[in-house]
Amino acid sequence: MSELIITAAAEDVRIAKEVLDAVIAGVCPKDPRTKQVRRSDAAMARLNGTAFTCQCGEDDCTAELSAEQVQARCARVVLHVVVREETLDGTSETPAQLDGFGPISAQHVHEIAARSDAVARKVDLGDLLDHQAQPGNNYRPTATLDVVLRGLFGTCTWPGCSEPAFAADLDHVCEYDHDDPAAGGPTCLCNINPKCRFHHGLKTSAEGWLDDQIVDANGVIWTEVTTPEGFTVRQQALNTWLLPEVGLIPCSHPTFGGTRPDSGHVEDGPQRTKSRTKAKHDYRIARRAANRRIREEAEARELAEDGVPPF
Ligand SMILES: [Zn+2]
Ligand SMILES: [Zn+2]
Ligand SMILES: [Zn+2]
Repeated sequence: MSELIITAAAEDVRIAKEVLDAVIAGVCPKDPRTKQVRRSDAAMARLNGTAFTCQCGEDDCTAELSAEQVQARCARVVLHVVVREETLDGTSETPAQLDGFGPISAQHVHEIAARSDAVARKVDLGDLLDHQAQPGNNYRPTATLDVVLRGLFGTCTWPGCSEPAFAADLDHVCEYDHDDPAAGGPTCLCNINPKCRFHHGLKTSAEGWLDDQIVDANGVIWTEVTTPEGFTVRQQALNTWLLPEVGLIPCSHPTFGGTRPDSGHVEDGPQRTKSRTKAKHDYRIARRAANRRIREEAEARELAEDGVPPF
């Protein structure tokens, strides 16, 4: 084996990778290769001008790899850049976020904006003051909230994961309650972040993992993941520098977060039978509340210690 390395503009490399994924998406379920091998094979096929084919060897192969099918998938490849209006109109040098890559300079944004295939869409953060969930479907974020969350977090929010935010799922951190929306987590910027399919699945199905999202007093948005061993990793929304005002937008829903373990609240009503999912969500709500309490106490301690003169 040997290796071919191509150096090109970040956006072209990102598009090339998306195109390869659009090509290999056409193999049938019986193709024996790993995704990485399919990508390599697809890249070599395109460079050499040969056909990329399914390797299942079956007579009833259902691969969708005709030139038209591949072309139709490639035509749907979209690469997102989140840029402030003042950068785009040249009155500011604030960098922008290229999804799946990271920050790019204002100059680089202008080069991308000048491409014949570039399309600019304006997003008004003020829309979030009116509503953040789609009218008629309280579970779905509005188009504005969708793009703002992806731009703000930049990647999957699981610690160490760099999957592009625009390819990720938008996950309600405190689970949305479809039966009783007021009882679950709201569709709001304080409660939703991007998670790649893998980490979304890990949170949903693996035991012991817990995540949380916090908007601090300065309007900075943080995410937290607690491992089954009890270690908590907290990180600031990656692109707070790009959209610092987002966390200052007030919530329009009542507070949520469940009953704190030390509140003295006693369930005196008749016990309802909870579904397993409901029980899991309740547990997570209580754990999040406990984690928040521990954090607040630690912060109060730190403040108290800072207040002691060093002499
Ligand atoms: Zn096949
Ligand atoms: Zn991830
Ligand atoms: Zn909120």
